[in-house]
Amino acid sequence: MKLNICHLYPDVLNLYGDTGNIICLKKRLEWRGIDTEITLLPIGEKADFTQFDLFFIGGGQDFEQEVLLSDLHSGKAKEILAAVEDEKVFLCICGGYQMMGQYYLTHTGEQCDFIGALNLYTVGSDVRMIGNYMFECLDENSGSEVIGFENHSGKTYLGEGVFPLGTVISGFGNNGEDHTEGARYKNVFGTYCHGPILPKNPEFADFILKTALSRRFPSADLPPLNDCLEIQAHRYMSARLAI
Ligand code: GLN
Repeated sequence: MKLNICHLYPDVLNLYGDTGNIICLKKRLEWRGIDTEITLLPIGEKADFTQFDLFFIGGGQDFEQEVLLSDLHSGKAKEILAAVEDEKVFLCICGGYQMMGQYYLTHTGEQCDFIGALNLYTVGSDVRMIGNYMFECLDENSGSEVIGFENHSGKTYLGEGVFPLGTVISGFGNNGEDHTEGARYKNVFGTYCHGPILPKNPEFADFILKTALSRRFPSADLPPLNDCLEIQAHRYMSARLAI
């Protein structure tokens, strides 16, 4: 059994340890005897998207998001849209999450027309939403409590057909207004959660892996791992943030 993972734009979208998510996915599969192949797909490189099971996109500043626009619109956007509609799994963090939406209007007035894979948009504000934060995923998105770190000025608003990933317990989430955090559309999971999210939240990590595995191998099983240390760290932060 092997899972093919594509790390999109590792050259420009990687903030606050986002690449740790790739390491985490690989290790959690390896510990269950499942192979992984990881393909890095930076600006300017092409690949056959149909071969991948799981896509990861990290976060980036406004500048990096503008830098990759021409690459997106010269082919990758179409490939990503097709993969999304084919129900491939995507985990997209912050700048990568915004990129999956319709557009991002930065607080300095630049409009980045993104790919519109998800019916959502982002508007820059002069408030920076920054800090450790915590949210609870909706039941259909694992139901688990997630802790992490957010740092964005963009406020994201979800349109019809896209549902939140979860509800904010502490922090800002999508926009600091409606208590929603992240987005789910088909098998795309978007979130503001850096940290990186997966090593800090093993339950959510396994949920992502299970979603990706069962698409290709319907009877695949993920036996439990010893997550004692991760759970202790999670509980510590959860107690701190709940105050
Ligand atoms: N540039 C975006 C914002 O500030 C995303 C930042 C990020 O990926 N951390 O809203």
